[in-house]
Amino acid sequence: MLESRMPDVRENLERVRERIARAATRAGRRPDDVLLIGVSKTVDVERIRAALAAGLRALGENRVQEAKTKVAELGRPAAWHLIGHLQTNKVKDALELFDVIHSLDRLELAQELERRAATRGLAVEAMLQVNVAAEPSKGGFAPDAVDEALEAIAKLAHVKVTGLMAIPPEVERPEDSRRWFRGLREQAERRGLKRLSMGMSSDFEVAVEEGATMVRVGTAIFGARA
Ligand SMILES: *Cc1c(COP(=O)(O)O)cnc(C)c1O
Repeated sequence: MLESRMPDVRENLERVRERIARAATRAGRRPDDVLLIGVSKTVDVERIRAALAAGLRALGENRVQEAKTKVAELGRPAAWHLIGHLQTNKVKDALELFDVIHSLDRLELAQELERRAATRGLAVEAMLQVNVAAEPSKGGFAPDAVDEALEAIAKLAHVKVTGLMAIPPEVERPEDSRRWFRGLREQAERRGLKRLSMGMSSDFEVAVEEGATMVRVGTAIFGARA
C-alpha cells in the first residue's frame, strides 16, 4: 500500500528533537537555543504537512522555483529558509519567498540583495557561507576572505549578516566534522556573530555540541530523497 511507504514524519521529528535536546544538554546549552530547520527539498507537500502538523516551524529549500510552488500551496505556517546557491537573477523572487538566506556566498550576491531589498524598503537577513575546507566544488567565502567580505557587506544598509553557515566536507564519522564546526564557531565568536547554521542529518548532534544555533535536517525527518 502506498500509505505504508510514507515515513513516519511525526515520529522522526520527535526523535530528531530529542537528539538535539540531549546534545544541547551535554554541551550545557538550552535545547530551545537550537532552531530545527526541516530541509524539505524534493519532499512532497503531504510529508511537509505532516511535519507542520507535528510542530515544525522552519523549512529549508535550495531552489527558488521549488520553493515558489510550495509556498503557493502551503503558505507560511513556518519560516522559509534558503539554504542553496542563489543565482543573481532569482534574487527578486527569493526576497519574496524566504525569511532568511543561509547561502550568501559571494559579494555580487550581497550587492544584488542590497539593490532589491532597498527598492522594497526591507532588510534581508543573511548568513555568510564559509567554504571551511576551501573545497573547489563548494561555494562560499574562503576562511581567510571572511573579514574582508563582512567589511564590504557592512556598508550595505539593507543586508544584515547575523551569522555564518557551512557545509563541511563529507566525512565517514560524524565526529570527524567536529573540527570544522568548532572552527566556524570560533570564526563567528571572533566577529561577534550570534548565529551558526551547521549540521545535517549525519552530524547535527556534533554541530549542536559545538554551538550550532540552526541545524538543517532533511533525511532524518522526511526519509531518503528520490
Ligand atoms: C540537503 C541539504 C541539507 C540536508 O541534508 P540531509 O543530509 O538530508 O539532512 C542541509 N543543508 C544543505 C545546504 C542541503 O543542501
